[in-house]
Amino acid sequence: MIHCEGLVKIYKAADLEVFALQGLDLHVEAGELMAIIGNSGSGKSTLLNMLGGLDRPTAGSLVVDGKDMLKFSERDYVRYKRESVGFVWQNNGRNLIPYLTAQQNVELPILLQGRRKKERARELLEAVGLSHRAHNKLQQLSGGEQQRVAIAIALANQPRLLLADEPTGSVDSRMATQILELFRELNRTLGLTVVIVTHDPELARKVDRVVAIRDGKISSEMLRKGSYLQELEAMAEGEAAARE
Ligand code: ADP
Ligand code: MG
Repeated sequence: MIHCEGLVKIYKAADLEVFALQGLDLHVEAGELMAIIGNSGSGKSTLLNMLGGLDRPTAGSLVVDGKDMLKFSERDYVRYKRESVGFVWQNNGRNLIPYLTAQQNVELPILLQGRRKKERARELLEAVGLSHRAHNKLQQLSGGEQQRVAIAIALANQPRLLLADEPTGSVDSRMATQILELFRELNRTLGLTVVIVTHDPELARKVDRVVAIRDGKISSEMLRKGSYLQELEAMAEGEAAARE
């Protein structure tokens, strides 16, 4: 699904250059459920934005689902975002429209695609386990439920690849576990490839594969459960120390 080699992203701001990705290699098989961990500023969002076609790499090679993204025109980028990927952010739920119902929020993007909205929106809400809340206004839903609506919307274009940047950053740990379970179910039932960026070690424990980024490069790849627990714990301690 993803073949990324020597990926470089340099942000230029005035006279300053930020090397956000410094020759990153990453390969993801179709149907994987994986997590990318790393300290803040390590380049996780930058990588996800490249994968989602939200921003362009500076150099390297990036082939997603057989498409060579470094050869993309502007139109290819627009089509890619519309047809090939779903994207979920930390506060996605909060970016939805509070005074519309869950169902109406999901209908909106489908409407823009010119498809039959009602039936499809219902299917999507069912897929994320929210049928029973379809007619509640968004503002009446919990943070976790709102995030489910956002995930339903990310699935509206039937992507093969779902990218989630800190999707559980603003919900409690029980909700975070439920959202992870939802990703796992979508991974299993739809065969969706899921890449989750997180700095939550608990969450990273629950996926099939974890990759760590440090300074814009893959620092280690931790394939088996258990083998990366120490690294995760060290990271969590590092983050806690940094906050104090
Ligand atoms: P993470 O998601 O792991 O916290 P990011 O990918 O957001 O890290 O950022 C990686 C580095 O790139 C950081 O040093 C950050 O300040 C820088 N950066 C990210 N986006 C931009 C931007 N649009 N312009 C300039 N620098 C940026
Ligand atoms: Mg980030």
